[in-house]
Amino acid sequence: MNIFKKTKEHPAAEQTETNPLDELYQKVKETILPDHARENLIKELGRLEKMEPTVAEYGIGINYIDFMLTLPWEKMSDENLDLERAEATLDAEHMGLAHVKERVIEHLATNIMCNSKPFKILVVDDEPIALENIEYVLKKERYDVSIASSGEEALDLFEQQLFDLVVTDLKMGNISGIELLERVKQISPHTRFIITTGYATVETAVDALKKGATHYLPKPLKLDTLRQTVKEIINQKQNVHQGRGSVLCFAGPPGIGKTSVGRSIAHAFGREFVCLSMAGLNDEAELRGHRRTYVGAMPGRIMSELQRCGVKNPVFMLDEIDKIGQDFRGDPASVLLEVLDPQQNHHFLDYYVDIPFDLSQVMFITTANAVERLPGPLLDRMEIIPFSSYTMGEKKSIARDYLIPRQIEAHGLNEADLVFTEKGLESLIQGYTREAGLRNLEREVAHICRKMSRIILKKEVTLPKTIDTDEVTQLLGPPKFVAETRELLVKPGVTTGLVWTEVGGQIIHVETARMKGSQNLIMTGSLGEILKESAQTALSFIRSNAEQLGLDPDFFNGHDIHIHIPAGSVPKDGPSAGITIAIALISLLSGKPARNDTALSGELTLSGQLLPVSGLREKILAAQQAGIRRVILPLKNEGTIQVLDREVREAAEIILADTVEKVVEQSLVLTGTTPT
Ligand code: ADP
Repeated sequence: MNIFKKTKEHPAAEQTETNPLDELYQKVKETILPDHARENLIKELGRLEKMEPTVAEYGIGINYIDFMLTLPWEKMSDENLDLERAEATLDAEHMGLAHVKERVIEHLATNIMCNSKPFKILVVDDEPIALENIEYVLKKERYDVSIASSGEEALDLFEQQLFDLVVTDLKMGNISGIELLERVKQISPHTRFIITTGYATVETAVDALKKGATHYLPKPLKLDTLRQTVKEIINQKQNVHQGRGSVLCFAGPPGIGKTSVGRSIAHAFGREFVCLSMAGLNDEAELRGHRRTYVGAMPGRIMSELQRCGVKNPVFMLDEIDKIGQDFRGDPASVLLEVLDPQQNHHFLDYYVDIPFDLSQVMFITTANAVERLPGPLLDRMEIIPFSSYTMGEKKSIARDYLIPRQIEAHGLNEADLVFTEKGLESLIQGYTREAGLRNLEREVAHICRKMSRIILKKEVTLPKTIDTDEVTQLLGPPKFVAETRELLVKPGVTTGLVWTEVGGQIIHVETARMKGSQNLIMTGSLGEILKESAQTALSFIRSNAEQLGLDPDFFNGHDIHIHIPAGSVPKDGPSAGITIAIALISLLSGKPARNDTALSGELTLSGQLLPVSGLREKILAAQQAGIRRVILPLKNEGTIQVLDREVREAAEIILADTVEKVVEQSLVLTGTTPT
């Protein structure tokens, strides 16, 4: 049947010369489409033919067909699967990040190995024409195909090599398809079987499936069904190879190079790059599209991005998946589960597109600031690659080798126009940025470039030849950040703590006060449940050990205690502030101030022991940024500290303690001593 014959019969064609439907018929004919998409479009065109062009639905239909024709159903960019080149590109575009690059390359190597292993198919049929046809169709799909005209011949071939899939006829001379299956399964249990037959009955089908056949197809074979079935079997096999975590998830604070490493991966493999932000997305339809019955229905963002990039195998970054929301309009995370699952994503259904689209060639990479927030099933699908904060040294090198040259180029300057001294760069990083990553640093460098462009064009001021500390202040104004703890009043009851947040390490101040009252513990500063419990534990520990700590055992009688952690509008939680609260209370009750050059982190037990904490790299670097020179951490963290980079270990003096008493000795200003 000629499916395109309808064009001529179309009544409107006689009235106008350029009927949009004719053009669309022509496009459907010319575009490379999978059979199911072509059939769907022909059906849609048939529906439009019966419609008045003036009705709204007609326009919607035309838009739909237009969109469908521009989707990259079969279009792929030629991938460059050269691992060495990939490594070289990643190295050239990013400084450091050694463990990230190593894990990315390992992951890519596994994918390349799985995908490049030829899938071997053996076709067995005693009918030469059927044999030839199936062989032709499968070879056209570029599989490694062998043929046998009998069961005996097939078994002989299995003696020489193993096949991944056997497509066999059921009824053949001496050895039937089922018998062949039983004998092959003894030699090669993982070989899949598709049994084809012209005598299909429910009994034979059940029997074949019971004996281990994967599929049972009646003859005459529908070639499209055969192709689809083989594709599904290959997909399943690849999933077994790749298994859990076939999607990479880059986790870490903002500005640390997650997006840009993703872009480099695309660049290295010659694929297109797409980045879709998931932040604040709480409507399932945004990802999956609206059904066409809705007025103003649109495709979901995944399909729209694919249409825009024009190929079906881009590197697709789903940015900030931990910020995805959920409300009455459905759960977008469940769509992600489907998209990221290799078992399901080869027939992803967008409601607008309305027929399955194969996403299995897309390389998905996700990013998250805090993976703890991700639902378990989603975490299971991904391999988490942690990105951690940059040290001062790393920031300086990246700025020198990447950020500054890039900004100089972007602002049309010459290298000689902007030469930073070591001190100048340091003051820019310390005084104008406070971040784990490099975003603000890049922004400040851009700011300086703009100022320099203006100075050069106006020719009114003598140009600073090199940018030192003074020139930075001259160009950007006074520093935005100062070593804040030094500014703090040395006052009993106030301590500095270190916490891990999704934007990197941060310092917090704990303030305490005691006033007349009736034994209430007041806690303010948007404290989460765990933090509140830590505060209660700290107070109970001090009350039960007051004498040993040299405090008045009745300090709580007739009094209230107030614990406040400033930046009240920012919610805070986690157990690692336990020791910071305890020391603030001991300082308050003993009247001895805490050292303002020291910060603490550690979980406290009711018996006064310090339990280990996480995020040490981030915490120590945050302390360094804030101008803190001493950091007190749990002794139980000794092992984790030893494996930190030397630069991090040397960023502050690290003091280890296992009990509250030892922390008191190290952190409070004892009488007669003053911090230097
Ligand atoms: P993220 O996605 O983690 O928020 P980006 O990828 O946007 O961060 O990185 C911010 C900027 O810092 C980009 O311009 C990026 O190229 C640069 N950058 C980050 N890490 C490195 C690195 N290791 N080497 C070179 N440039 C880097």
